[in-house]
Amino acid sequence: MTGLIVCTALGVEARAVARGLRRTPDHLRVRVVRVGMGPDRAARAAALLPPAAALAVTGFGGAVHDGLRPGDVLVATEVRSGGEVWPCPSAPLLAGELARAGLPVRTGPLFTSPRLVTGRERRALARTGAYAVDMESAPVAAAAGGRLFAAVRVIVDTPAAPLLSLATIGGALGARRALARIGPVLARWAAAAGPRRVLLASPRSFCAGVERAVEIVERALERFGAPVYVRKQIVHNIHVVRDLERRGAVFVDELAEVPPGAVTVFSAHGVAPAVREEAGRRGLRVVDATCPLVAKVHAEARRFAARGDLVVLIGHAGHEEVEGVLGEVPGAGVLVEDEAGVARLRPERGVACLTQTTLAADEAGRVAAEIRRRFPGAEGPRGDDICYATTNRQRAVRAVAAEADLVLVVGSANSSNALRLTEVAAREGASAHLVDGPGDVALGWLRGARTVALTAGASTPGSLVEAVAAALGGLGPLEVEERRVTEENVAFTLPKEVRP
Ligand code: SF4
Repeated sequence: MTGLIVCTALGVEARAVARGLRRTPDHLRVRVVRVGMGPDRAARAAALLPPAAALAVTGFGGAVHDGLRPGDVLVATEVRSGGEVWPCPSAPLLAGELARAGLPVRTGPLFTSPRLVTGRERRALARTGAYAVDMESAPVAAAAGGRLFAAVRVIVDTPAAPLLSLATIGGALGARRALARIGPVLARWAAAAGPRRVLLASPRSFCAGVERAVEIVERALERFGAPVYVRKQIVHNIHVVRDLERRGAVFVDELAEVPPGAVTVFSAHGVAPAVREEAGRRGLRVVDATCPLVAKVHAEARRFAARGDLVVLIGHAGHEEVEGVLGEVPGAGVLVEDEAGVARLRPERGVACLTQTTLAADEAGRVAAEIRRRFPGAEGPRGDDICYATTNRQRAVRAVAAEADLVLVVGSANSSNALRLTEVAAREGASAHLVDGPGDVALGWLRGARTVALTAGASTPGSLVEAVAAALGGLGPLEVEERRVTEENVAFTLPKEVRP
């Protein structure tokens, strides 16, 4: 059976797609079929299509959304026509792959019209939330039945540059080149299809410290009104940051960017005393979202330094938590990242050891063992320096990694917690990747991956894991199993400034 049939309305579109496919090893499983222009011709042709695992429609399309430009590629999140809707749940995966192929991709609803849409009709369609319009996708979607379906349109005309203007003709030449690049991506999309088992590692996503930090910003916005300034990312997740920005939070790198007297939140990773002092000098109204478990490491650092020890912090250079903890003990603290760092230590006093809260327990354990070997009298690190949430998420990913063909860790690239989960899974022998959302999942990873383990760092919202699972479900039937290694019931109280 053919793997994929790509339908186009026009011969020029079909030739462009076929030209691009010649360069892909998947082309033998792909057929390009010209279904003709308009919904009636497309419906008749679609009814006669040979069996195939997946159907796609591609070709030129017209924008109705003002944000689209000629040359943009729209991946339909759903196809609408005559009151019917055909969802395209794998759209985020396809859009991500097209973006990695260098195409300017947008996602949104596509409307199939029985005729060319212009002027007022275009504006009316835009008000329905449609992004673009074509005349063939709906009948092919209907013919797909339960099979994998996608619609991808290269925009050649927009409300500002309607069909047959000079700008449109120039765009059409570029659009043919875009269609040639879309063909191989559609072939990879079809090759990634199939039934799958998803193992959800649990616990995953938000920990108590992150829940608290996000709630502090939300409550500060409610109580004091926008803008509320936040020093550094409140937690290391770009989606959380963007969401709070939309609601009125302003993220700054340094307090110098905050107007005097403004409400300012310190992030969950904690700050050095020098930052608190600067906030005091500038008269800022501070709400401290430092996680209580990070604050505990600060307190330990102060205690060790006060009795004259060298405070050795196992952690990663440049991480905000590390800067905050070492800032507590100026002249009395040193960072070590690995065993080589331990070998360079030349302490002239007692040694006390602490760890960053979000390290991989196995790696940190090796460094701590080396410290104890070199300095048998050294104190620490305490077993709970690496916090409960980090420990539980690492145990959970270990529990699913061995069974999975692929492990996807959802989290931002600057999340220490999420990076460590990826490393832990890889050390278990899994093919493991960090993704910020479904768009980051490369289709090549999914080919032949019948069991996919999913987890997320402590700063990743659960909704992003659901979005990845939903996109995988768009590639075929999904059987989802939750694998819980422990229950979590930790909760922290809010600071008095935002307490109800
Ligand atoms: S990962 Fe641990 S230390 Fe960091 S915010 Fe969450 S609970 Fe606190």
